[in-house]
Amino acid sequence: MVSDHLLQRLEAVMLSRDPVDVHINRLRSSRPCALSASCDREMLIGSGKALVHLGASVMWIPARNEAGYWAAPSMVFHYLRDHSYLPPEQFLLAVEAMDLTRRFKAQEVYLKQIVGHF
Ligand SMILES: [Zn+2]
Repeated sequence: MVSDHLLQRLEAVMLSRDPVDVHINRLRSSRPCALSASCDREMLIGSGKALVHLGASVMWIPARNEAGYWAAPSMVFHYLRDHSYLPPEQFLLAVEAMDLTRRFKAQEVYLKQIVGHF
């Protein structure tokens, strides 16, 4: 089980829009929880204008050595908070280390990475 501090940190990373936006391929709908049919269909984090629909995007988090990215569905927040999912430690360290003042637009990085692959 991850600490409350790490959950709050992940929420801050997920809610950031500028200069950091970790979300790629946002959908207008969301995928439900894959672990339990009893979970709510629609899950949100944040408030006001800063809302994230869990299950409606994939996140790219820069690896600490900047050699790549950790990819995770936004639903991972729910898995951590409500299902005691424990992701790889390096993912959690990358979330903890992410600089929210340094520009990082995951969608732009993603689009550059896939050029020539389709
Ligand atoms: Zn669930």
